[in-house]
Amino acid sequence: MRRKTAFPTLCVAAVLAIVLSSLTCAASSPQLDSSAASSDSFASLSSSAILALDTHRLPEAEALFAHIADVYAEKAADLALDRAWVYVDEAYDCLLAKDYASSDRLFSRAIDICPSIKPDVAQQWAFSRLEVCYFRLNSANADDKDFDWRALTQYAADTLALRAFPTESHYALGAVYDGGGDVGKAKSEYCLAIDSSSCADADIKSLRDAAYNAATAKERKCLRPVHPLLCQTDPGDFQILRDGPFVIRHHNLQLAKRAAAVLNYYWSRDVLDGFLPANQPFSCDCDVFIYRDQAEFLEAADEPQWALGCFRAKTDDGKATMLEMHVYQGTPHLLATTLPHELAHVRLAMVPGFHMGLPQWIQEGVAASSERDERTAACRRTLVEARAAGTLLPLTSIMNADAMPRDDSHSLAYAESLAAVEALIRRGGKDRFTEFVKVTGAKGHDEGLMKVYGLTQSALEDLMRTEIDSCYAAPSDGKAPNRPAAGSADIGSTGI
Ligand SMILES: [Zn+2]
Repeated sequence: MRRKTAFPTLCVAAVLAIVLSSLTCAASSPQLDSSAASSDSFASLSSSAILALDTHRLPEAEALFAHIADVYAEKAADLALDRAWVYVDEAYDCLLAKDYASSDRLFSRAIDICPSIKPDVAQQWAFSRLEVCYFRLNSANADDKDFDWRALTQYAADTLALRAFPTESHYALGAVYDGGGDVGKAKSEYCLAIDSSSCADADIKSLRDAAYNAATAKERKCLRPVHPLLCQTDPGDFQILRDGPFVIRHHNLQLAKRAAAVLNYYWSRDVLDGFLPANQPFSCDCDVFIYRDQAEFLEAADEPQWALGCFRAKTDDGKATMLEMHVYQGTPHLLATTLPHELAHVRLAMVPGFHMGLPQWIQEGVAASSERDERTAACRRTLVEARAAGTLLPLTSIMNADAMPRDDSHSLAYAESLAAVEALIRRGGKDRFTEFVKVTGAKGHDEGLMKVYGLTQSALEDLMRTEIDSCYAAPSDGKAPNRPAAGSADIGSTGI
């Protein structure tokens, strides 16, 4: 008869160190864009599906890839990696939302579609599976009469085989054996977790506690996986791809083509209700430098470690004569977050007032608003949490600084800049905000605020707090915008 034992399962809050974005794991029905669906070209359908993936419109991407697989079954292998990556992105979103069972299923589905990505996502998949394992183990403790220990043992062993978190995986497998009454195998796994071969004579309780402590001591970090294509690089100097106003300097032609499609996609969209209008002409080419890695980026640009990109501009007689954005490969946020952020900086350079100089909080608030929806939603959630905790930074200190903070407070500074800009847009629409930028460029933000909005800095701070309370905290579309995510969402590393 199996013993009743309370198994210590690792506290997610204590060990979770998920860095970076995302929001919820809301189930949504894939919607196929009718114009794309009606096309009978494999090339155009593929481009639409990949663009939807690269801009994090995952339900649309899922539907498009499924449609392509139906119509062009003989070419399915060509798109297997990208189709699988839709589920990888969804799985990670679920992981952040603590929906580990869905995350596990989605990672599994991704690997079924494209087995070669297994090493790329092993860590994230193992993270989800360990949580599922603990959940099932605790369920068994509560009511174990018909519990399938054989299945859970296999599940824990398969998780260990991913080799992502060996100490904790040995502990989890040991706990499953322990729960099923196989003390000998439990002790073996606990010993492996402790990394000691001389513990076989110890009693099961001390081994269990020691293994638990060993597993807890190792922080379980888990970053969003990076699409393998984004990591490939060619040797030598930059290659050049021209597409519209964008001159992309790169080391990976496939990535450059996808970056061009993403830039054109975001360029064709209004930002802040049309303050940055869609397809706004540039006064010169925009050079996009995609470095091979962070080291090359940091060597070329004097930026803090957390920066994912940067923007440079020169103006002459009110017109931009040089526009550059600098980003790097190896980050999962390059296409759907960093590029639209830096592109918004470029587009802002076309607005009257920019060439005379705009405070950083305006520039970063506008740029942050253009990132993919999940990122801005995470930003808003962070603000609500900081407001509740009383940890918001004084907006006036952000407004009057020469630059955004380069320390850990940068996340909140970006988020509050976003909230302040959105509060002004909500108060007076794009036309007044355009006028505000123009006056600010000429005479500073104090005069801009007073002349256009009748606000002082402290009044804007009050307005921002009201924006957070009334617009960010309340559900607006049936979803729960304040649903807490697992771990901390780092919303600040979005380029500067
Ligand atoms: Zn920026």
